[in-house]
Amino acid sequence: MTAVKPRWARRYFLGTVGAGAMATALWPEAQLLAQQAQDFVLGPSMPDLTPQQISPHVWIIFAADGFPTPENRGMMSNVTFVVTSAGVVILDSGSSLQIGQMAIRMIRRITPKPVIAVFNSHFHGDHWLGNHAFAQAFGSSLPIYALPPTKALIEGFQGQTWAALMQKWTNQSTAGTQIVPPNRTVSPGQVFTFGDVTLKMHFHGRAHTESDLCVQVVEDQVTAVGDIAMANRIANIDDGSYPGTFKYYDALRAATGAQLWAPGHGQPGRDILQTYAQFLKGIWEPCLQTVKDGRSEAEAKALVLKDPRVMARSASMQGFDSNMGKYISLAYLEAEKEAF
Ligand SMILES: [Zn+2]
Repeated sequence: MTAVKPRWARRYFLGTVGAGAMATALWPEAQLLAQQAQDFVLGPSMPDLTPQQISPHVWIIFAADGFPTPENRGMMSNVTFVVTSAGVVILDSGSSLQIGQMAIRMIRRITPKPVIAVFNSHFHGDHWLGNHAFAQAFGSSLPIYALPPTKALIEGFQGQTWAALMQKWTNQSTAGTQIVPPNRTVSPGQVFTFGDVTLKMHFHGRAHTESDLCVQVVEDQVTAVGDIAMANRIANIDDGSYPGTFKYYDALRAATGAQLWAPGHGQPGRDILQTYAQFLKGIWEPCLQTVKDGRSEAEAKALVLKDPRVMARSASMQGFDSNMGKYISLAYLEAEKEAF
């Protein structure tokens, strides 16, 4: 005779141990069950955040925090949207299914029009994991656009990595979020017309990542810049380039003229490219000089931390203390490549 476990016991077991951890030690049938159980686990819904209107057509659901925590449930990056006469266009969809769903509720307060397109600025998960909510609500054929490398990275290992990391950082708040990669690509200079609004695509080489898309809302003189510049948060530069960022800023400004720059993190501003470039140059220039002089990384670090452009931001910038060491190392490494 075989003992059959009551249903509640199985559920309790799944709930306590965690389906993922258990799956590795089980028979194939049980692994499948564990996987299915995990698919049905949903993190809590995201509390409403009232959108701010920054121009005639552009709104931002603003993330107060710069980094994901269990408390903020991954709400660490802005969801920007453009209300056109033809429908709503999303510029970065947030970090989770739940954040995307919240954005849809907020859009409903402003317009009954459907979402007709999504653009993802780059492959970091806080800018596209919310795609799931929009595909769920508006259909799997909803166009989701990105530059070709971004699409490939999200479809590949980076997509899975970011989905898993976001769950971990938020203590599973984003559970249930599925990877919905972009299904269309854009090319630099391409122009889209959505009703009464023109969107122009910009790309000028490696900056924050190898493929950062900036989207200009032509009629409003607003450009969404993703993570190539930030108001008051230190940007991840592991995938980026210091001199590449400076070149990108110059080329973008030459192409668009003066704009209200809407970043993925922090409030929009007209001087963000300038102020962020100043901060980055406070790191890059001492590192480049130190390398040219044949001095060590430790000496570069001492110089950077004394640089007035860096010191000016040290007290208030989100993530400064935890990231500055790595930031300087990456600058020094890139300076070594640049100098030789
Ligand atoms: Zn990023």
